[in-house]
Amino acid sequence: KAKELGRNTFQFYTEALTQAAVRRLSLETRLRRAVKSDEFVLHYQPQVRISDGRVVGVEALLRWQDPDLGLIPPDEFIPVAEETGLITQVGEWVLRTACRQMRQWLADRNGPDTVAVNLSPRQFQLQDMPALVGSILQSTGLAGRHLDLEITETALMEQGPDAARILHDLKALGVRISIDDFGTGYSSLAYLQQFPVDKLKIDQSFVQKIPDTLGAAEIAATIIAMGRNLGLGVVAEGVETAAQLEFLRNQDCGFYQGYLANRPVRAQELREWLAARTESAIGIPAG
Ligand code: C2E
Ligand code: MG
Ligand code: MG
Ligand code: MG
Repeated sequence: KAKELGRNTFQFYTEALTQAAVRRLSLETRLRRAVKSDEFVLHYQPQVRISDGRVVGVEALLRWQDPDLGLIPPDEFIPVAEETGLITQVGEWVLRTACRQMRQWLADRNGPDTVAVNLSPRQFQLQDMPALVGSILQSTGLAGRHLDLEITETALMEQGPDAARILHDLKALGVRISIDDFGTGYSSLAYLQQFPVDKLKIDQSFVQKIPDTLGAAEIAATIIAMGRNLGLGVVAEGVETAAQLEFLRNQDCGFYQGYLANRPVRAQELREWLAARTESAIGIPAG
């Protein structure tokens, strides 16, 4: 019986592994094509100032619509893009598209002030990252202060001593730096202080457990206090409920992002959403 079970388990794992390998291989091939044939689109999610409900920025989130497989989530294809090196082209497209869009929003009365772009660990390590960002800012005519670059806490820690230099080169362009998924990487206050960062983004795994789960609530409150002490902005990500927002407001958290405000949407839809929001003057969320 045990032997039979063992065999079935083995079979189960080989099948699952094969399926995963096939999917991955097919993703790699499709990703190469996608880069050439315009299958990417950026969605934008608002970042809201908690004190007055103003939309101060948006985060650009990459979407890939494969003609056969449909919408593929970034958590699935970004790692493949990283392993294959395709992230270079994908990342450049994202930066350019987001900067161009931001430039357009600056002409709108209701537009956000900044656009945030995610940098994967490998992108962050690319030798010429600061030069690339500089040339994209120049060619799109966007001032650096309207661009916010998000780097995960883990990516920053993995980078080691070079991280501070890369960040300084980026800061010299006037861009803002945010630490994404903060709280998951075990970095210390002392460690954090050596980097020229502007914002901490509290990881949604904590945010989604507030206010009722004690550990998560304490971690969120600690990050907010830490941000205040270091003079950094703090953004809570993944806010879905009014109770979560209420907790954040009581802790004096600066900004939030999440389905409670809006899901990530296309540029045009965001524009309409912003216009409707201003018109009905429901700038201040309940709470
Ligand atoms: P992230 O940067 O931490 O982005 C936040 C993720 O949470 C996004 O998932 C967003 O859609 C989702 N989210 C926002 N509000 C809520 C909420 O209230 N509830 C829940 N459950 N989820 C919420 P998404 O778009 O699937 O992106 C996942 C990750 O993929 C991102 O995490 C980021 O690390 C990466 N990514 C996305 N776009 C890019 C890109 O252009 N370049 C790179 N390098 N990575 C990207
Ligand atoms: Mg992000
Ligand atoms: Mg995050
Ligand atoms: Mg994330």
